[in-house]
Amino acid sequence: MAYKDPERQRAYAREWMKRNPEKAREAVRRWSKTHPEQRRAAKRLYYARHREQHTLTMAAYHKAHPEVLRAKSSAYRARARAADGRFTSAEWRALVDIYDGRCAYRGEAGPLQVDHRIPLSRGGTNAIDNVLPACRTCNTQKGQMTETEFRARLDAERRAATPIE
Ligand SMILES: [Zn+2]
Repeated sequence: MAYKDPERQRAYAREWMKRNPEKAREAVRRWSKTHPEQRRAAKRLYYARHREQHTLTMAAYHKAHPEVLRAKSSAYRARARAADGRFTSAEWRALVDIYDGRCAYRGEAGPLQVDHRIPLSRGGTNAIDNVLPACRTCNTQKGQMTETEFRARLDAERRAATPIE
């Protein structure tokens, strides 16, 4: 089915996807497999556009499912205990001073959390040279990413947010 009018074509496509959700998902899966680069670019753009929304959705989800959050934090604490390396509160304060009391990623002032440059879940240590101060937003968004991966994502978001002239 092809329409000359692109608006009609899009409306038809939306209707079709509503009526055939399984086929639509399958088509997206096929497209993702054959277009890995475009898939990644689309995903980056989506996150850049919906970053706030994603954070809110996750916060609402955790509020509705406190047991999930508890399970996550207890798994996190267990990894922190098992990880190699320790740092003292004096080392932490010195590190925060180096960053002028600001988030190492986007420079926000405010309450700072311990961020592991290489996450504990991916074999990072709990030593001070694997630690950065991060605001809660950045720490949450970084999740299981390494510092390098997260900074690449921030760069991609900045590029996506910059209007093309
Ligand atoms: Zn931040």
